Amino acid sequence: MEKADTPLHSVQQKIREACRRARRGADEVTLIAVSKRHPASAVEPLLFEGHRHFGENRVQEAQEKWPALRERHPGVQLHLVGQLQSNKAEDAAALFDVIHSLDRPSLVKALAKAFDKTDRQVPCFVQVDIGDEPQKGGCPVSELPALLAQARDAEIPLAGLMCLPPADIEPAPFFALLDKLARDHGLEGRSMGMSGDYETAIMLGATHIRVGTALFGERPAN
Ligand SMILES: *Cc1c(COP(=O)(O)O)cnc(C)c1O
Repeated sequence: MEKADTPLHSVQQKIREACRRARRGADEVTLIAVSKRHPASAVEPLLFEGHRHFGENRVQEAQEKWPALRERHPGVQLHLVGQLQSNKAEDAAALFDVIHSLDRPSLVKALAKAFDKTDRQVPCFVQVDIGDEPQKGGCPVSELPALLAQARDAEIPLAGLMCLPPADIEPAPFFALLDKLARDHGLEGRSMGMSGDYETAIMLGATHIRVGTALFGERPAN
């Protein structure tokens, strides 16, 4: 077994073990390194280690940080994991390779228009308000069928569903619910699991885990 000599290796090893326990292939899970609020100098060691999937939660911060990093490290896949305002849809379409926070009809419209204009079709996860916490964003579970229909009508490429379960309570039931919703709607991707619970999420079908603190340490204050 590989020595866990860097945070990245240690997380990768835990992913492999969780996949083995879940009888899943390790290549079924994409690790997104959430680098929000960390400077380029903190991100670059992971790039040198060969990691290529990164997540940011603010369009403007990503615009400031990533063009230079991408120039030095080709092949980066950038994931937007934070709430998106409609007036930033075009900037997001131009910069990101995957969007994890499609959560309302107005954003379906804005993104469809942005994809047209930028000539990019960015795969989107529909974020579900799995714990009934509207302040976190996400589509209410009851409105999910209508939103998915709208997104399909607008020809938004749908990658799957994403959730952010309530803090400080057992996340497994929420992961299981997201997995069921994805299955019910014929969607392949499940973006769920963060530093504290990604192994549980993998047991319950996560295809994309979003890990910040376990890779970069505590985030600097804003
Ligand atoms: C910050 C963030 C993460 C990473 O959280 P950690 O607990 O630091 O791993 C994951 N998902 C989203 C949507 C985030 O905003």
